[in-house]
Amino acid sequence: FQNTSSPLLAQLNEEQYRAVALPAEHALILAGAGSGKTRVLTTRIAWLLQTSQVSPGGILAVTFTNKAAKEMKLRLQSMLPVNVNAMWIGTFHGLCNRFLRAHYQLAGLPQTFQILDTQDQLSAIKRLCKQFNVDEDRFPPKQLQYFISGCKEDGQRPGDVTVRDDETRRKVELYQLYEEQCQREGVVDFGELMLRSYELLRDNVHVREHYRRRFRHILVDEFQDTNKLQYAWLKLLVGLPGEGSEGAILAVGDDDQSIYAFRGARVGNMADFVREFQVQHQIKLEQNYRSYSNILDSANHLISHNKTRLGKTLRTTQGAGEPVRVVESPSDFAEAQWLVEELRQLVKQDGFERKEVALLYRSNAQSRVLETALFNAGFPYRVYGGLRFFERAEIKHALAYLRLMENPNDDTSFLRVVNFPPRGIGARSIEQLQDAARVAGCSLHDAVSATTGKAGANLAAFVAMIDVLREQTEGMTLREIIDLVLDKTGLVNHYRAEKEGADRVENLEELVNAAESFVTQEGFGRSAVALPQALSQSPASQGLNMNVTASEARQSISESPRLFGSREDGDDVNEFSEDGVIMSPLAAFLTHASLEAGDNQAQAGEDAVQLMTVHASKGLEFDAVFITGLEEGLFPHENAMNDFDGLEEERRLMYVAITRARKRLYLSHSQTRMLHGQTRYNLKSRFLEELPEECLKWVTPKNAGFSNLGSSSGGGFGGGGAWGQTPAQNRHARPAWGQSSLSTETYKSPPLPVQKAEPEHGISAGKNVFHNKFGEGKVLAVEGTGTDARAQVNFPRHGVKWLALSVAKLTVV
Ligand code: ATP
Ligand code: MG
Repeated sequence: FQNTSSPLLAQLNEEQYRAVALPAEHALILAGAGSGKTRVLTTRIAWLLQTSQVSPGGILAVTFTNKAAKEMKLRLQSMLPVNVNAMWIGTFHGLCNRFLRAHYQLAGLPQTFQILDTQDQLSAIKRLCKQFNVDEDRFPPKQLQYFISGCKEDGQRPGDVTVRDDETRRKVELYQLYEEQCQREGVVDFGELMLRSYELLRDNVHVREHYRRRFRHILVDEFQDTNKLQYAWLKLLVGLPGEGSEGAILAVGDDDQSIYAFRGARVGNMADFVREFQVQHQIKLEQNYRSYSNILDSANHLISHNKTRLGKTLRTTQGAGEPVRVVESPSDFAEAQWLVEELRQLVKQDGFERKEVALLYRSNAQSRVLETALFNAGFPYRVYGGLRFFERAEIKHALAYLRLMENPNDDTSFLRVVNFPPRGIGARSIEQLQDAARVAGCSLHDAVSATTGKAGANLAAFVAMIDVLREQTEGMTLREIIDLVLDKTGLVNHYRAEKEGADRVENLEELVNAAESFVTQEGFGRSAVALPQALSQSPASQGLNMNVTASEARQSISESPRLFGSREDGDDVNEFSEDGVIMSPLAAFLTHASLEAGDNQAQAGEDAVQLMTVHASKGLEFDAVFITGLEEGLFPHENAMNDFDGLEEERRLMYVAITRARKRLYLSHSQTRMLHGQTRYNLKSRFLEELPEECLKWVTPKNAGFSNLGSSSGGGFGGGGAWGQTPAQNRHARPAWGQSSLSTETYKSPPLPVQKAEPEHGISAGKNVFHNKFGEGKVLAVEGTGTDARAQVNFPRHGVKWLALSVAKLTVV
């Protein structure tokens, strides 16, 4: 097969080419990992544009992460000169945000609505619970949060929830109150972005018709992980056959990589899509371009143990490559040490780039020991997820000030900073203010004018400061705004005066940098730029715009658009001009901060090894991958081990993990591991048994994992005996040892005996210690001896950390 018709298409195989050049009709590409699904999706967009089948404004593409959206835009820009911002490319949340910004009035939102991230949402719920005297033992805020998000993901408003018992009745009441609170404060959570967009499309025929005419090509990556509401949203946006719609959906996905069922994802959406949209084109891609065959065969062999599969094949022509290395360590601590050594070799001897190496783990909690080892060794690393830059307390404080300037009714932000840095406003005054606001039915900001006395004066000063800042910053660059706010609010000085505030000051400075790079990337100039009339994006009137001027580029940045004048009334659909909008750089930046919290801007650019959960690694690829903690109970996770669907999802997760690797793959497990304050004695993961022996190399001698289970376990599962068995035999063998040796008793063995005599380092539980970077903390536990000695320390500013005493230099204070 040779296709030379266009340089764009020259790099595709036959099936890929067919997929890219499909007619403008609904299609599904179902294919395994690394087969070029994302590449096909991106190339199709470029091809459609290049052949003038659609204008950029007629494209909507959904990616799974912001990172993926960014990569797609870069990729497109490298393929052809095009204004990528005129296309709607983003996550479901990002796109819904853009949509709601354009139609905020119709959606019943204030123009400057702010987005609550998961943390903000929880604190809003806590506040609500307090106000309504909710018994937090019966209704833990976290559970309420889960309930509310679940309802929204199912498209249910409080009135739609079926109430069968008192408990649900109360939860629904609180859901209702929470909604009222959000509405009053002008904030929306992630679920609300999606649900509100859905409802607006559902209820407003003009809007719906407008977008149905506008988006000719809708492309959805990772379709297997869409949830019910997202699919329903797509249906409204595009319209089913017979509803007179013109848009074509290209969905790409892999049922074997469906890993978000726990968050409501429905693989069944693929079958529904084929049926409901009467999909005529289904294409399979069978060649994997990512990995050597030892890696690919391992993945294929593993996933063949799942029963519920649509069935696909994957082959590679790349040759066997290196064997997959399997390594056992005596403890998680030793595992981390080994890892650091191996990483050094990878980089120094084998020439791998650090950023091309990923350390993957099943649970976030596992990253702590890895981070400590990397940190102590001075090895550059970057964590995706975990405590993200935009989630750090000092950053949230700064953002809260900025948000208040944008939207004074944002009570969550108000409460976060009204007395931070301290300005003599006590809890009592805040309560009184909250009462007053409740009575008057207004925001805290607006209720301030009614307060009296000294507290009232302090509150008034606070509000005045925000109002003055808003005026002062008009026309400033984003950098100037943030600098001024950090200074005038006293935030920087507050941290400067703190003993261990240096880190936080650094982070605040980093915020200025983040803003700066946001501005450069997105092409913003000064705030409140009065741009001329917007680009007309009516698909009919616009050809392919290859020569984008700077001002056009600026106009079309509308992640967080603000509409001109009052044309958004909506009685004439032709007046919709969702791209003819501008927003202030500040508004755009705040949106970016809420939606892109995971991107860890702080260390972007540095060549660093990447740490992330397997979930976060979806769609990405690396030259070398370490999958750590391959132990029963951890991966597969204990919560999922006892039910069939759960176990299959864990196996898909393992499939995702393995298929991230291009050249080299390490599978690592440890005999013991400290997790949640307990030492666990682990069997190695069943997934290791489900790999083809001929692809593996046992770097450490192969055995049953923790070799010392004793009689209670029934002697493990028979050492290497199980290894020669076929998958079917394994399945039969599984329940027998699964019941005996995996009971929680054997699992969570008591912690290692605590040393009686005080060891040389003089550090023991209960003592206060000082660490150069983390400051003062309290020792919670000490274990191990000699060079293996480590201490668990609670640092008020940095959380609980494990430190190797031979490296970490702790002094008793
Ligand atoms: P995943 O399921 O993990 O998301 P995917 O199916 O989306 O994978 P891509 O990420 O698009 O796969 O492609 C995997 C790798 O193979 C990428 O590096 C891509 O550039 C490369 N690739 C895809 N198709 C070809 C091709 N025809 N020739 C050369 N390389 C290709
Ligand atoms: Mg992909």
